[in-house]
This record gives sequence, structure tokens and C-alpha cells, in this order.
Amino acid sequence: MKENARKKGVAILTLDVQKLIDMLNAALSEEWLAYYQYWIGAQLVEGPMRTEIETELLKHAGEELAHADRIVKRIIELNGTPVLNPDKWSKLARCKYEAPKDPHVESILAQNICGERCAIQRYQEIADYTNTTDYVTHAIAVAILAEEVEHEKDLEDFVVDINLLKKASK
Ligand code: FE
Ligand code: FE
Ligand code: MG
Repeated sequence: MKENARKKGVAILTLDVQKLIDMLNAALSEEWLAYYQYWIGAQLVEGPMRTEIETELLKHAGEELAHADRIVKRIIELNGTPVLNPDKWSKLARCKYEAPKDPHVESILAQNICGERCAIQRYQEIADYTNTTDYVTHAIAVAILAEEVEHEKDLEDFVVDINLLKKASK
């Protein structure tokens, strides 16, 4: 950590700042992997409602990138060093990247739903850890958490509709 930088903004925090920076760097790595998971899935996806699903996957990819942006800015504000090498992403991330070997919509959606559930757990933990001890990070974690919950629902809705379509065509 750099000396004397933003001293008061960090001094008010009643938590282990290094532990928080580590959690945020894990989240940052997960956001980049989530971005690529969505983006590459959107390029490959095949099957029912592909156009609609591709559009939503690309939208979510952009939202994951915006999460990375909020997280990196907070790490720097905390005088921390953001993960500097993409080589580290898969090591630091608990939410793992899964190569989309099967381009079928159901398989792509399942991979992204898995990622969203992992992200929800991550931001719930950061929100818990910073609750009353770091209001700024807490507000960021809660805002991102709400978007991850929305992402999960968007993807689950597609799965429901695909299943209805399958039932109707029987
Ligand atoms: Fe995200
Ligand atoms: Fe998400
Ligand atoms: Mg959405």
C-alpha cells in the first residue's frame, strides 16, 4: 500500500483493508472471466431464440465490464494494487471460466447461470464483510449484487421459455 495517499478515506474503515482488497481482486478477476464467458458465448450460440439470447448475452457482457470498472476504481481508492496480469485471473477467481464447447443455447445459458450464481455469492460476501465497516464498498457491492440477481433471472427466464417451446412442439 502507498503511504499517505487518501489516508482519511482508508483510516475510517474498521475492517482488514488488505483482506478486502484481496476479495475485490478476486471479484475483479471473476468479472473479466464473466465478460469473456458471455462475449464468446454470444458469438457461438445456436438454437431456439438465438438472436434474442445473443443480444442479452452481449448486454450482460457489457454490464460485467462495467462491474470490473467499479471494482478496480475502488481497489485503487483503497491504495491497493489491482490484478495486473490476466494470467492471474483464473488463479484468483472462485467463479471459474468454462470453455463453451457446446454452442447450443441451453448449454451456453447453463454456463452463464452457473457464473451468475457464483457472482451472487461473491457480492453477498463482500456486502456482508463491509456492512457498517466500509459504507463505500458496501454500496458498490449491493448495487452489483442487484444486477447479478437480475442477470440470473434474465437467463432463467430464457430457460423457462425454451422448455415451454419444447413442450409445445411435442
Ligand atoms: Fe458482474
Ligand atoms: Fe452478471
Ligand atoms: Mg439483462
